[in-house]
Amino acid sequence: MSTTLSRTQLTSFLACQRQFHLRFQQRLPWPQQPLEEKVEANLSLGETFHQLLERHFLGLDVAAEAMTNPRLRSWWLAFRQFEPTLPNGRFLPELTLTTPLLHTDKGSYLLNGRFDLLIVSESSQSTPFAHLFDWKTGRPRPENSLRHDWQTRLYLAMLAESSRAILDTAAPLAPDHIAITYWYVSEPDAPRTLRYTTAQHTQNWADLQAIAAQMDAASNWPRTDDLALCLHCPYQAYCGRQTAVSPPPEPPEEEDYFPEWLPLEPIAP
Ligand code: SF4
Repeated sequence: MSTTLSRTQLTSFLACQRQFHLRFQQRLPWPQQPLEEKVEANLSLGETFHQLLERHFLGLDVAAEAMTNPRLRSWWLAFRQFEPTLPNGRFLPELTLTTPLLHTDKGSYLLNGRFDLLIVSESSQSTPFAHLFDWKTGRPRPENSLRHDWQTRLYLAMLAESSRAILDTAAPLAPDHIAITYWYVSEPDAPRTLRYTTAQHTQNWADLQAIAAQMDAASNWPRTDDLALCLHCPYQAYCGRQTAVSPPPEPPEEEDYFPEWLPLEPIAP
């Protein structure tokens, strides 16, 4: 058996083991209430913006004149005006990566992530590096918060461990040559660049392996003690945690488009 862990699955397991088990192992339907119209529209626009940037980095034409939505157009124009400085290298937009994490008697644990844009050094003549770019259409967050987010920790750890295959080099890339930049449409002139270090990677990898080992050993999948988490969880009835009044659906993190966030249906086996 193999278990694939994305940011969504890691955060679910760390928040509530029962929820992780019901959603990702039992594959019970995830019957979220419909999102507010405004939030739904923001997510849809965020998805379109990511598709535009993918086209752009694939070298295809993106015509601002053809954009009828004024917000989308303003995001695109902001990007064109304040595009972060990109290193020379091989551009890999919307790259999906899977990285082995742990193998036990019960099976394998793999990490999975989808990068908005990865740029890696192209020739063996230049200093090897890997730089991730992540486009954000939600509320900006400070660097310190981003550094501790599982998206950052997971993506940087995956890159460090998979760099040999991506760059086709004999030795893995030193973590110090890996970075991630978050670029926000609402603060286009203030990208947040986080550089990775060997010490951070050692800690991240140990933490990820410890989480996988905990999953491997789990048998009773306890409910969270944090009742606030249950307020927005569709599995209340499975846990005896029904609330008297259903709160409005919780907006996705930062109200930002994130490809893994939206699975309202059970994930296909
Ligand atoms: S209702 Fe609460 S305890 Fe049950 S799965 Fe959801 S978050 Fe966990």
